[in-house]
Amino acid sequence: MTTTPVVTRFAPSPTGFLHIGGARTALFNWLFARANGGKFLLRIEDTDRARSTPEATEAIFAGLKWLGLDWDDEAVSQFERIERHAEVAQELLAKGAAYKCFSTQEEIAQYRETAKDEGRSTVFRSPWRDATDLPDAPYVVRLRAPRDGETVVEDVVQGRVAWKNETLDDLILLRSDGTPTYMLAVVVDDHDMGVTHVIRGDDHLTNAARQVLILDAMEWSRPTYAHIPLIHGEDGAKFSKRHGAPGVEDYRDMGYPAEAMRNYLARLSWSHGDEEFFTTEQAIEWFGLDTISKGAARFDFKKLDNLSGQH
Ligand code: GLU
Repeated sequence: MTTTPVVTRFAPSPTGFLHIGGARTALFNWLFARANGGKFLLRIEDTDRARSTPEATEAIFAGLKWLGLDWDDEAVSQFERIERHAEVAQELLAKGAAYKCFSTQEEIAQYRETAKDEGRSTVFRSPWRDATDLPDAPYVVRLRAPRDGETVVEDVVQGRVAWKNETLDDLILLRSDGTPTYMLAVVVDDHDMGVTHVIRGDDHLTNAARQVLILDAMEWSRPTYAHIPLIHGEDGAKFSKRHGAPGVEDYRDMGYPAEAMRNYLARLSWSHGDEEFFTTEQAIEWFGLDTISKGAARFDFKKLDNLSGQH
């Protein structure tokens, strides 16, 4: 048990149905919050206006409801918070932790090409980082990231993960149209929502390196990170339509009981001794981030069928 109140969140992008991987992420966040008497929050990451749809948001709500993963407080729309994100970017600018970069796409492409030809690192180094004489032209806001040393993320599942700062560029916080990037939005929202534990797929591990730099620049405390292995099909490839239905509502429609699905999803990357079958109450009692395994999870229909027979 942790001593500070636990706050977890599930932060899907509403670009399609609730897929198996997302459902497992939601379940782990829910289990951890419920196991610790904490809160499980839901944030819809709908800032990509071209790809986000209300139907997808509804499908996510419906999938979570079917699985019995009730969230606390009202679901937050990330898009509705973009002014707050921009405000934080301004704060970073004001304290010198960020700067305005006027380099155009063409200039950046040219920089990379020249660097490549000369055998240098192609990580973009903006000439505007220390400039004082600024033009009246469109710009992006970049974080003044450290260039020496390493950025380290202590992850409950992955252990200590380090990136050499020379391999990281000064990430963009605000685009030239003034809209926040995903990196900035996630950090600001997690902070404002009081999130203590970020539990998500390990495809976000490298994002964590960028996100902790923003947190450090704002002097905000870091959450505990737990990046869980992605789900693979029985053939070892990343789980997709080819391996079976990727949306949770498909399993509902096929008649699988929600309790069996929860049991099955929990067993993907997590175990409690040799137990295969357990109730949701038992999962809440037994769940811990330290017992999530690091290896890729395999989706196995036989197991799901087996569990369905038992629930
Ligand atoms: N919106 C991201 C996704 O759907 C998740 C972001 C996060 O969990 O930090 O993959």
